[in-house]
Amino acid sequence: MNTARSTELFAQAQKVIPGGVNSPVRAFKSVGGQPLFIKRGEGSRVFDEDGNSFIDYVGSWGPLILGHAHPGVVEAITRAAKDGTTFGAPTALEVELAEMIVEAVPSIDMVRLVSSGTEALMSAIRLARGFTGRDKIIKFDGCYHGHSDGLLAKAGSGIATFGLPDSAGVPASVTADTIVLPYNNPEAVSQAITAMRDSIACVVVEPVAGNMGVVAPKQGFLQNLRKLCTEHGILLLFDEVITGFRVAYGGAQELYGVASDLTTLGKIIGGGMPIGAYGGRRDIMEKVAPLGPVYQAGTLSGNPVAVSAGIATLKALQEPGLYTRLLRKASTLEQGLAKAAADARVPVHINSVGSMMTMFFAPDPISDYTSAKKSDTQKYAQFFHGMLEHGVYMAPSQFEAMFVSAVHTVEDTEFTTSAAAEVLSSM
Ligand SMILES: *Cc1c(COP(=O)(O)O)cnc(C)c1O
Repeated sequence: MNTARSTELFAQAQKVIPGGVNSPVRAFKSVGGQPLFIKRGEGSRVFDEDGNSFIDYVGSWGPLILGHAHPGVVEAITRAAKDGTTFGAPTALEVELAEMIVEAVPSIDMVRLVSSGTEALMSAIRLARGFTGRDKIIKFDGCYHGHSDGLLAKAGSGIATFGLPDSAGVPASVTADTIVLPYNNPEAVSQAITAMRDSIACVVVEPVAGNMGVVAPKQGFLQNLRKLCTEHGILLLFDEVITGFRVAYGGAQELYGVASDLTTLGKIIGGGMPIGAYGGRRDIMEKVAPLGPVYQAGTLSGNPVAVSAGIATLKALQEPGLYTRLLRKASTLEQGLAKAAADARVPVHINSVGSMMTMFFAPDPISDYTSAKKSDTQKYAQFFHGMLEHGVYMAPSQFEAMFVSAVHTVEDTEFTTSAAAEVLSSM
């Protein structure tokens, strides 16, 4: 594979951008080698600066459920941009997206739009504290909730990848109120809540973990969180930045039938443009400024171009049968990968929920971050590079999801499966 132009660009980038990337996990550190510079995308494919073409399962890390450069989304972005890109004043478009979100997710009565998932989580946590008058929060080991200081404790992939226990520059005083518990472990949650119930503002959780690789909630795990939170006046915050409009139109809360008090969204709702959102029960959301005392603001919040891309995306996702077809396609791919691994006698465990999945190079099932970390990351790196050579672009880290989009074709998934069979059998 010719990568001359990417190599040249990476050298240039490293002089002016830390590590040559604007988000760490793009740098290929955990799989070795150097990143490809992507020139364009179309449907299920990306094309790099050297003209190589790949079937893409990164999908910009989640947003691109309709694939690259979806004509309806591009049209919406173009139309919006022609009318001006930002006003710092309300627009009809942002009301339309807010209404679509409220309609899609029954636990959301009101929603505030922001510019990233990080901002959504940071704001939702502030709101939970402001509403309850309590300071402590519970999060789970391996769940990522953006890079705000207080949430950067045991936060999965990016950090897992580099093996850093925490980020430098985060004062211990800031994470002191963040209690980290193992995922899928109801006993640990009830113990912590029993010990500190009057000081816990919220439990924040990825209802399907995506940032330690895909880990589904065990039967009853979310229901138990719901019950404990209700009993003790603690708010339940579902971080659906990945799962919202991904595992079902109404997100993981629709799939599992558990309602949260607060929800954060991002990724898909921006159709590939920068966005985030937090929403929930009316009585809680009414505490947000200018209605209430919890301050939160943003120059580009509700940006008309981003919102237009989001509206076009959600409208396309309303097509009848879309999620069923997506699930079927993802299942076929999962079965194909599993068979390829079994035939090659490479021990793997594939975790999947809907169109998100992770192939863990691990002998035992993965149900939390401790078990995820037992994966053979060197084997994954070998697999990753083999697939890349065959023209399949996967996440450059074991602890990430593969995303299947609505535009991946049967040929794409068949090609991927046979490429995997070749790569795995050579390992
Ligand atoms: C991506 C992600 C975030 C952060 O969103 P950004 O837009 O990258 O700031 C937060 N939570 C989860 C679950 C995510 O996957």
